Amino acid sequence: MDLFEKCYRYTDAKEAIRSGYYPYFTPISSTDGTEVVIRGQRLIMIGSNNYLGLTTHPKVKEAAEEALRKYGTGCTGSRFLNGTLDIHEKLEEALAEFVGKQTALVFSTGYQTNLGTISSLLGRGDYVIVDKADHASIIDGCILSQAEMRRYRHNDMENLRKILEELKDGGKLLVVDGVFSMEGDLANLPDIVDLAGRYGCRVMVDDAHGLGVMGPGGRGTAAHFGISDEVDLIMGTFSKSFASIGGFIAGEADVIGYIKHHARSLIFSASMPPASVATVYAALQVIQEEPERIAHLWQITRKMREGYRSLGLDIGSSQTPIIPIIIGDRDRTFMMWKELFQEGIFVNPAIPPAVPPGRALLRTSYMATHTEEQMDRVLEAMERVGKRVGVLRKEV
Ligand code: PMP
Repeated sequence: MDLFEKCYRYTDAKEAIRSGYYPYFTPISSTDGTEVVIRGQRLIMIGSNNYLGLTTHPKVKEAAEEALRKYGTGCTGSRFLNGTLDIHEKLEEALAEFVGKQTALVFSTGYQTNLGTISSLLGRGDYVIVDKADHASIIDGCILSQAEMRRYRHNDMENLRKILEELKDGGKLLVVDGVFSMEGDLANLPDIVDLAGRYGCRVMVDDAHGLGVMGPGGRGTAAHFGISDEVDLIMGTFSKSFASIGGFIAGEADVIGYIKHHARSLIFSASMPPASVATVYAALQVIQEEPERIAHLWQITRKMREGYRSLGLDIGSSQTPIIPIIIGDRDRTFMMWKELFQEGIFVNPAIPPAVPPGRALLRTSYMATHTEEQMDRVLEAMERVGKRVGVLRKEV
């Protein structure tokens, strides 16, 4: 059998494109953050992770330009060898301080951060415990580590306790999203750290969607609960509030030192380019200098949450600027996505396996730079489309 046979027979994407129901790899030709242009059409963007709207902030752009001029376009090597710049280290110090940990280590993507951290710390004979709704990069890190993976039902503390109780001797790490990326609900971190502590299990929080958004000064989900000290490792990405690309892990100096010398996704991959490093450093400063951004993000979030609820849409138990519109059925989700697109609204449809079966949804997310006027337009479009597709609850 020819290996490529399955590729020649794979027609799902081609058929979706032909029928006009293909929401992926959409080329954006211009953007100011809150609005994008796609094939000549202007749309309001409620499908990005640019929570603080910093991708176009003048100070952030200037810092990127300056680094580009000073260091050139790339590092052409791994952190381990020729790819560490002084600004990588400066950024690591600032990040460690921001999340309240001894040390931080910067990787080239968040995906690589999870892959490298989990697979370097764990091996055969160890256990890794994950929430069923954890991000794919966590799961891939677990698979690569060869540790025994145990998955507990989403945020189900009784199920977690049972799993922890059954584990035998071995190193144990629980890895959980602080903010769940599809439905925008929070991990029950206080109970998680309490349970994990009782069973000798270390805790790592992937705070990709929490940093810059949750907690005092945007210091993340653990800070929101006031338990940063009880979480052993805090992971973040730069592809969301930090307006760039890259990721980091923060924790005790000895642990980070170990990861630094064992994580293959760090050692065998080139480091973050200078302009990205400078972007993140500047974004971190802006987050601290302009707290009104976070305040406005939450104002917009509350407006949309209330708006969707009063329309009778099912938004699950979102507690963050990620607000899902849960539709359930895959075809109706795509139908709604398409109608919204035609109305000038960009959202992301999420279908299984990205979400559990029967829980297809439109993932919407908000930005500090969204205006009230833009959000009114979104709510009006959502009402028109919701009526046409029949997803508004009957009582409304
Ligand atoms: N963790 C979570 C929870 C995420 O949502 C993402 C990105 N979608 C990642 C990790 C990976 O981050 P990156 O985009 O920086 O590779």
